[in-house]
Amino acid sequence: MNFDSRKRPVWQLPVANSEKRGNAYIHPKAKYHCFKNCGSLCGMYCQRTEDYDDGITISSAAVLEQPHLACRSCLKKWKKQYQVEG
Ligand SMILES: [Zn+2]
Repeated sequence: MNFDSRKRPVWQLPVANSEKRGNAYIHPKAKYHCFKNCGSLCGMYCQRTEDYDDGITISSAAVLEQPHLACRSCLKKWKKQYQVEG
C-alpha cells in the first residue's frame, strides 16, 4: 500500500522520534491524525507518512466507523475538505 500523503490524505498515528534511543515512539493514547502533504490537517504534527507501514495507519472507512480513534480537529477538517458524509 502507498501511504504517500502528497497523493491522498493518510490517517496515521503521530510518531515522535527519540534521538536518544534512535527509534520511533508512539504515545499509547495517541489519536490518528489526517496527514496531507506531510502535515496533519490540525497543524499539530508533521511526518513523512510514506516512511511508515500499515501498523500505524488506518483507512478512511475505519475512521468513519470509529471516529473516537481520530483527532477531532483533523476529522472535522477532513470531512469539510473532502465532503465526507457521516
Ligand atoms: Zn490532528
